Amino acid sequence: MNGISFDSLREQVRGQIITSADADYDAARAVYNGMIDKRPAAVVRVSQVADVIACVNFARDNSLDLAVRGGGHSAPGFGTSDDALVIDFVNTRGVRVDPARGTARSEAGATWADFNHATHAFGLATTGGIVGSTGVSGLTLGGGIGYLNRKFGLSCDNLLSADVVTAEGKFLTATESENEDLFWALRGGGGNFGVVTSLEYRLHPVDVVHTGIIIYPVEHAETVADFYRETMNSAPEEFGAFLGFHQGPPVPFLPEEWHGKPVCVVVGMWTGDMAEGPARWQPFLDVAPVAGSMVAPMPYTFLNSAFDPLLPKGMQAYWKAAFLAELNDGAIKAHLEYGSRVPSVQTSVHIYPIDGAVHRVGAMETAFPNRTAKFSPVIACMWDDPADNTANIAWVRDYAAALQPFSDTAGYINFMDGDDLPKVAENYGPNFRRLTEIKAKYDPQNLFHVNQNIPSA
Ligand SMILES: Cc1cc2nc3c(=O)[nH]c(=O)nc-3n(C[C@H](O)[C@H](O)[C@H](O)COP(=O)(O)OP(=O)(O)OC[C@H]3O[C@@H](n4cnc5c(N)ncnc54)[C@H](O)[C@@H]3O)c2cc1C
Repeated sequence: MNGISFDSLREQVRGQIITSADADYDAARAVYNGMIDKRPAAVVRVSQVADVIACVNFARDNSLDLAVRGGGHSAPGFGTSDDALVIDFVNTRGVRVDPARGTARSEAGATWADFNHATHAFGLATTGGIVGSTGVSGLTLGGGIGYLNRKFGLSCDNLLSADVVTAEGKFLTATESENEDLFWALRGGGGNFGVVTSLEYRLHPVDVVHTGIIIYPVEHAETVADFYRETMNSAPEEFGAFLGFHQGPPVPFLPEEWHGKPVCVVVGMWTGDMAEGPARWQPFLDVAPVAGSMVAPMPYTFLNSAFDPLLPKGMQAYWKAAFLAELNDGAIKAHLEYGSRVPSVQTSVHIYPIDGAVHRVGAMETAFPNRTAKFSPVIACMWDDPADNTANIAWVRDYAAALQPFSDTAGYINFMDGDDLPKVAENYGPNFRRLTEIKAKYDPQNLFHVNQNIPSA
């Protein structure tokens, strides 16, 4: 941004302000998706709430675009923007656990690996993402799908309170009984309503879990998918496992001949009685020939970070999503057709079960409206070489189009890409109008627009 001086902001913040004049500008502007190449006016690595208030006021008063970055994992790269002021929480990631109350308060820059590490010391956890490097903030504000959601609900269902800096630069706490409308909107409405500086969660006793990672040659995918569907229809909520399509990953328990080959997977955890764990997984080992598997009791933190080394920052990425009321034959057929052609070893096609406790929350009780879909598939295409962009994006689009006839709405906003913005209203369905009204109250000028944007009523 030409001509803007950050001198007055420097006097107000204790965190680091990085502009194009600084040596670490390129590192500071990079987000997880390597396809995003934005040049913000400044990235402010905030150190505390006071910095956030100063940044919000500065951006607003200087008519600067404002982008907010928690973990930076947004597929469309909403944690940055050209010529914008970026509030980056990378240096504020503390998590304070209150074991007596069974709660934890997380600063906005914590990742799920940070969060799980902190709570696991007390044998406690809450629903978080399946990859450790994803940020708690963006994931929770959009909903939050993970291994524990069948038993304990989405991440946003476990949110007890959030501290928020509004577009006016005011500091508010949102809970069920304080700024209730804001609290309602934060649980699924994304980053539209303010800058969240900390989030408090309800925790549950989850310690050692019976983990399963089972990898099948893709030619058995139909048998596995049928069996998975049938099992999940009656599986106890303690069984949180997804069906997926991959290229065989280079993991020690998968023989090398399968590395890079198309495979189908069932991955998850049993959080019930540990003695029952082997019996929960054995049918999946028996249903079809297995290329490789790892089924064992493990700390809860293990599976949540197991795939992190395979998914480093900086890959090209393009994603699409859906919501399936049922994993019916048509949807399975679409998955078999496109899932067997996953284009890279970093690409994940996962079909997450979102029934159980997720369905016990009413569609209008929180902003996250999709409370009847049984599955939330994501086509998370990630790869190294930009030369593959056209072909891989086309594969994702064709895959999503094939699934769309079976989908309730366009899909989970946290799994959508930048070209899905026109589908935001459809996704929020019965909650969209109320969201626009709350937007009008807290951010009428749409200062917070670098996101799956909800307009002001
Ligand atoms: C490898 C990978 C694995 C994933 N796995 C899962 C999964 O298991 N379950 C799931 O539900 N999702 C998953 N996701 C999707 C994830 O939920 C979204 O990408 C989410 O937006 C990431 O949050 P973040 O804080 O890391 O992202 P960011 O890019 O930092 O932010 C995403 C959005 O949230 C807003 N935001 C972030 N922090 C704040 C804040 N403090 N205040 C206000 N707004 C804020 C941003 O402005 C932006 O619009 C995954 C993504 C990746 C890349």
